[in-house]
Amino acid sequence: MARSFSEIKAKVDRGEAIVLSAQEVREILDGGNELTLEDVDVVTCATRAVMSGTYAVLSFPVAKAGSFLRAKSAWLNGVPAEVGPCPNERLGILDLIVFGTAHSRSDPKYGGGHLFRDLAEGKNVEVKVETDAGKDFEVEVGLSDMPQARLFGTRHSFKNYSAFVNPGEERVATIFHATFFDPCWNGASVSGCGHLNPIQNDPFLETIGVGTRVLLNGAEGFVLGKGTRSSPEKPNLSGFADMHGMDPEYMGGFATSCGPECVSSWAVPISVTSERVLESIAAPDRSIPLPVMDVVERREIGKATYGDVWEEVDLEVEIHPVACKRCTQCIPESICPTRAIGFEDWKPTLDRNRCFNCGLCSTACVGEVFRAHLGSLRFDGREVPIVVRQSDRLRAERLAEVLKRRILDHSFRMTEMVERISP
Ligand code: SF4
Ligand code: SF4
Repeated sequence: MARSFSEIKAKVDRGEAIVLSAQEVREILDGGNELTLEDVDVVTCATRAVMSGTYAVLSFPVAKAGSFLRAKSAWLNGVPAEVGPCPNERLGILDLIVFGTAHSRSDPKYGGGHLFRDLAEGKNVEVKVETDAGKDFEVEVGLSDMPQARLFGTRHSFKNYSAFVNPGEERVATIFHATFFDPCWNGASVSGCGHLNPIQNDPFLETIGVGTRVLLNGAEGFVLGKGTRSSPEKPNLSGFADMHGMDPEYMGGFATSCGPECVSSWAVPISVTSERVLESIAAPDRSIPLPVMDVVERREIGKATYGDVWEEVDLEVEIHPVACKRCTQCIPESICPTRAIGFEDWKPTLDRNRCFNCGLCSTACVGEVFRAHLGSLRFDGREVPIVVRQSDRLRAERLAEVLKRRILDHSFRMTEMVERISP
């Protein structure tokens, strides 16, 4: 028995809808219970991961009108911005486009993703401007000084992603690892939130379309259409949201051995309109294939499942400061991709708000201060330990819960798509 979006939306508006997070659905099914269309109306899904295809459009005043003709170049905390497209002649206003993957010219571990989070945290950033007359000046601005600040995803929320290994004999620099990638199958990097992933729960894009309201980094935004490189096998989405409402916990930078990358999060409501949608929602991690790629040649060399990544593992890293051996150099501190590790009174600390739960520190600490069971990929008779996760399933679960609560208290209004997306 299929149902329309309007019927489900009317139930939500009347306060009669059954809204579950994808995690709750899993728990119901794992408990041996069945789920029919009568048991659930909306399922909230989410993903948080390194998402390279991110940029911001920022527009804000930097000087009095008439003080310069037009800007030629600009940097925010050292991160280069594209000036334009509007020249804003003599207005003293900058229109900038900043890539989430742009690298600071002053700090090799700081990039656009870090900048976006700093702005969302309410910090002021340093803006350096070079005018076309060769004049330089600097100002400090915060998000509240920017009448317009929007974040766009050109290629976000893939229907899951891939794992990477390095079968070669030399270590390589890559955006898929926070450090150099060890050779000889010596560890895997993984990405994708498995059964929680929005498109995994609606693989035929029956309920997600142009105009669907979503949460992007916790702020309300909309799906614009398919993302770049989207295909029927690997669909992904483009979308945008206003940065003023973003929650810094769900965004930020992630340092890799090829420079800083950008972290984004999506939460999407799936209206359970048909048995086919319900069937996709019911799929467990172990039934979702995870292609294993050669990180150098970028070809598929095996197939594991998301059960290897997210079943019977620790989603959160533990810290045991008393176990610290006070090494001359703390490797976890130096390689943490989000700068979440520090020291206070000679004891290691972990900033939970910054931590991405990538797990890398647990593989590098000689004193077992940082602990997490990350699991292993199993394919073709091999077992390759996972050493770094570029998706944060814990926060994705939290974001799916946030969206569920907001639908139930009517502070998030679900919208019907205005057009279907063909990936
Ligand atoms: S590597 Fe581990 S044991 Fe050594 S200083 Fe760092 S936290 Fe302490
Ligand atoms: S899991 Fe460890 S290495 Fe990864 S972000 Fe958190 S503190 Fe840093």
